[in-house]
Amino acid sequence: MRKYEDSYQHKGLRKKLMDLLREKGITDENVLQAMNNIPRHYFLDSAFDKIAYEDRAFPISEGQTISQPYTVAYQTQLLQVKPGEKILEIGTGSIYQATVLAEMGARVFTIERQKKLFEQTKQFIFKNQYPNLKFFYGDGYEGLPTYAPFDKVIITAAAPFIPPKLIEQLKPGGKMVVPVDEDHHQRMLRITKNADGSTSEEAFDNFSFVPMLSGRNG
Ligand code: SAH
Repeated sequence: MRKYEDSYQHKGLRKKLMDLLREKGITDENVLQAMNNIPRHYFLDSAFDKIAYEDRAFPISEGQTISQPYTVAYQTQLLQVKPGEKILEIGTGSIYQATVLAEMGARVFTIERQKKLFEQTKQFIFKNQYPNLKFFYGDGYEGLPTYAPFDKVIITAAAPFIPPKLIEQLKPGGKMVVPVDEDHHQRMLRITKNADGSTSEEAFDNFSFVPMLSGRNG
């Protein structure tokens, strides 16, 4: 059984990481506060305990990764999260990003296509703390029509194109933050759905994500 302990050392390293994220340009204090409240090392294998607060992506199972803290902060900041908003996340992975959104008071619906990663969400240690966080096994390209429309959509895998069904599932005025493939990286885009159903696009920095794949696995 894995032992969970959030020591003074972990808390100290986490605070330093928040200072680093500020230096790198993250300004939304609500995002930083939420990340400071969440022990990132709980979302990793205990072998990563000492390095969990480095600003790096790490492997989780099934060849997937927990995103770099800077990337999590960057995407969350672009999403402009407000308490009570309905947010759809594609790519549950380690659950870290979803927990940050839940900690900010959003109602989070997160989808994972890897069966094993989805199964792990059943043992999520903060399950009782975040009744506003719901897990789904499925293909993110399909979204969750039953729960639509959403205020926001966040995709945490490299999308080859903007998934049309996810635009459909956005409310008018809703926003999607998505890393879209360019040559050897992904460009972070923020798509806004206008009142007439058309979309506007803003482009931000480049990042590197694992691919968004079609269909369920497992
Ligand atoms: N948000 C995660 C990042 C995980 S990496 C975290 O905080 O740890 C991206 C995840 O997206 C992987 O777990 C991968 O299996 C998943 N994924 C890829 N394509 C998908 C799809 N079509 N639908 C749902 N999940 C997908």
